[in-house]
Amino acid sequence: MLKIRDMSVHYGMIQAVKQVSFDVQEGEIVSLIGANGAGKTTILRTISGLIRPTSGEISFENQDITKMGAQKIVAAGLSQVPEGRHVFPGMTVLENLEMGAYLQTDKASNKQMMATVFERFPILEERKHQDAATLSGGEQQMLAMGRALMSRPKLLLLDEPSMGLAPIFIREIFAIVQEIQKQGTTVLLIEQNAKMALSIADRGYVLETGKIVLSGTGQELLASDEVQKAYLGG
Ligand code: ATP
Repeated sequence: MLKIRDMSVHYGMIQAVKQVSFDVQEGEIVSLIGANGAGKTTILRTISGLIRPTSGEISFENQDITKMGAQKIVAAGLSQVPEGRHVFPGMTVLENLEMGAYLQTDKASNKQMMATVFERFPILEERKHQDAATLSGGEQQMLAMGRALMSRPKLLLLDEPSMGLAPIFIREIFAIVQEIQKQGTTVLLIEQNAKMALSIADRGYVLETGKIVLSGTGQELLASDEVQKAYLGG
């Protein structure tokens, strides 16, 4: 579904991503793990069209999206939940969700999707008239995920959904990610929480200073000595 080939990304003279290649197949959860500064966010933002790669190719459903604008990429079925959520704080929960569907003109199916989002995140329905700024961190993460789902993505890109959350919320967020997969959305997950990210992943990649150094199924990576030592304190 998503193919990245030899992708490099620079910030001025700094090379943040070095000839990275990986795939996401339809129906999978793929986790990309790595320490601070490994280049995870840069990779997601490049796929979303927010940063241009200096070289390499990105294709989505056999369409070259390397040079496509961010809005067209969303329209093609790829939606990102950014790091730190970035909900619109002065807007209500409902307005935030409506913003997620701004490219969708079919009112009936938007209504249907809103109902699905409320089913998945009942707390958002309870808080729908409340300003997003008044939500807890975990609730804001749910709102950001709900907003991304409103665009009915085929592939959901999640940037560190567990960041800053209490363990109970982390478990809930990861359970929801699995639920989203079950209902037919493919997921690319970027995480520092290697244990959780790999335990729900079909496949994973380990990124170190801009390079992929290991890949395998989630279970293989969890069991590997390198991952145990570097990321799981084992
Ligand atoms: P974290 O988990 O801390 O968010 P990350 O793996 O997502 O890290 P990136 O944010 O992609 O890493 O950063 C990769 C590298 O690129 C880092 O060395 C970072 O300092 C650098 N970098 C990121 N954004 C910029 C920028 N706008 N200008 C210059 N350098 C940047």
